[in-house]
Amino acid sequence: AEESLRQMQKMEAVGQLTGGIAHDFNNMLAVVVGGLELARRKLREEPADAERHIDNAMEGANRASALTRRLLAFARSEPLLPSAVSADKLITGMVDLIDRTIGDQIRVELHKDAGGWAIFVDRHQMENAILNLCVNARDAMEGRGVLTISTSRATLTEGEIGECPEGDYVLLSVGDSGCGMTPEVLARVFEPFFTTKPIGKGTGLGLSQIFGFVRQCQGEIRILSQPGQGTQVQLFLPRRIVEGEGSAPVTLSPAEAET
Ligand code: ADP
Repeated sequence: AEESLRQMQKMEAVGQLTGGIAHDFNNMLAVVVGGLELARRKLREEPADAERHIDNAMEGANRASALTRRLLAFARSEPLLPSAVSADKLITGMVDLIDRTIGDQIRVELHKDAGGWAIFVDRHQMENAILNLCVNARDAMEGRGVLTISTSRATLTEGEIGECPEGDYVLLSVGDSGCGMTPEVLARVFEPFFTTKPIGKGTGLGLSQIFGFVRQCQGEIRILSQPGQGTQVQLFLPRRIVEGEGSAPVTLSPAEAET
């Protein structure tokens, strides 16, 4: 039963993406077909023009193939296996990977203040989300700056943050001193396939996937960003409550939380 629930969650995530995918894929094919049609017309009289149209078609085809590659990787992903995870411990375990990923010109600052508070997530999915945010931060800083990863405890009242019900949350945030976002970009970042990055660099799936993941955990994502002022992405994730155990929140022992 648990396996089929996981399968269903995965299908739901895929379903959420489907509308956007069909639309974007169609647009890419239109570029390919249109380019080839124009090229065929110009082939005899203006070969230079024809070549330009073929290049455009190739670009569209490359975009489409990058998209399907990304989708295949997504579909092949491991089944979800949520468990009680200490946010602080998770970050500690990722430091080396993050350092290697973002390069040595970027300074990484960690502030771990969630104590033993646990969240109920699939560990790999959570790690992917954090790494994704770090890669976005790196790209925004063009190789130079400060990346701040922090965790803290947040007790929210109803309506304080988005749709979050009143309760205890772990706040995990990833901040950077990068280029920041214009209000126009900020308004669209959760759209599947929205990207401002060149072909091959961005898929526009990072933040939309993280959005789906956070919502699945009954959490909320908030982004604070201004052009030239850097960006802070905040994930509010509900503190783990164990069903049928007097609704006791999980606090991991210091040993569990730190190793
Ligand atoms: P991708 O990184 O593949 O473009 P995302 O969904 O992760 O896809 O991000 C969408 C867009 O949001 C990016 O192309 C970029 O314009 C903007 N963005 C995301 N994170 C940041 C950040 N930390 N600083 C500035 N802009 C960002």
